[in-house]
Amino acid sequence: MKNLVVISIVHVLIASCTLCSFAQSTKTPDRQVAVTIDDLPAGMADHLPASEITAMTGKLLSTLRDQKIPVVGFVNEKKLYKPGEVDERVKALRMWLDYGFELGNHTFSHMSLNQVGLTAWEDDVIQGESVIKLLLAEHKMKLRYFRHPYLDVGRDLETRREAEAFLTQRGYRVAPITLDGWDWMFAGLYEDAKARNDTAFEQQIVKEYLSHHDAEFAYAEQLSVKVVGYEPKQILLLHASDLEADHIGELLDLLRKRGYRFITLEDALGDSAYSLPNTYVGEEGTGWLEQWAITQGKIPQGEPQIAQWVFDRTKQLHLSTGQVSAIPQ
Ligand SMILES: [Zn+2]
Repeated sequence: MKNLVVISIVHVLIASCTLCSFAQSTKTPDRQVAVTIDDLPAGMADHLPASEITAMTGKLLSTLRDQKIPVVGFVNEKKLYKPGEVDERVKALRMWLDYGFELGNHTFSHMSLNQVGLTAWEDDVIQGESVIKLLLAEHKMKLRYFRHPYLDVGRDLETRREAEAFLTQRGYRVAPITLDGWDWMFAGLYEDAKARNDTAFEQQIVKEYLSHHDAEFAYAEQLSVKVVGYEPKQILLLHASDLEADHIGELLDLLRKRGYRFITLEDALGDSAYSLPNTYVGEEGTGWLEQWAITQGKIPQGEPQIAQWVFDRTKQLHLSTGQVSAIPQ
């Protein structure tokens, strides 16, 4: 009897030690991320009535406010000018500030610095300030952040540096990105599935959107260590869409599971990683981890690929609706 008791105690001890070491090995690291959302008032604003933009904005912002996530939203003011809807579209934008978030400039017409001359691009930056400056002033705030459309920072270093000097002179801080799961691509398919009441396909898209983001986060974390030497305060790029309005809560849970807590963009930019040498230029815009890697002569490898069916269905969708394949990065 006594022996049995001893054996039981040993078993309990072994079990608890196993649990103990399991807990140790799965202890989540302390990670930090700032959330940014581009293409306001909505990525697909040209195809949506103002009432839908307002509903989407309300849903998205309620989740973010309830979960106390600091966010900066980047605006393309051209999307406000739909005849008969200007007031309502401006109101949807104002909601971001009323809910306690911040707005930044993403150019007036989502213009790529790689596709036009510097002067035309600078004009588009200036034109993109008019409404957001007024809205920010109403909330006693100042315009301070800029995000490059398509992450296109210039095709040659002279253009890149001149554009940066122009932005600094106008009082901007460039908002880089380090985490990007290409949510806009899933968002297009999601909106279409929703419009067709195809709930099975909707669920398939959401599942893939979440697993692809998880894989992209893992990739960025390991690339961070290779390039920066540690995991810096990350900056996540998302886009204003029905997909995010309906499912951002699940994406935030996924980030929490990876050990992230949510910080302001200002806090993230205080990380010294954002002062690392960066001479990246090229036809294709890309995130800052890749830019730093290429500056160091390292070729970033192993980025997870988006599933082929997502590309195929997106192509089909553009063919059937006659939409130009806009890439709203
Ligand atoms: Zn964009």
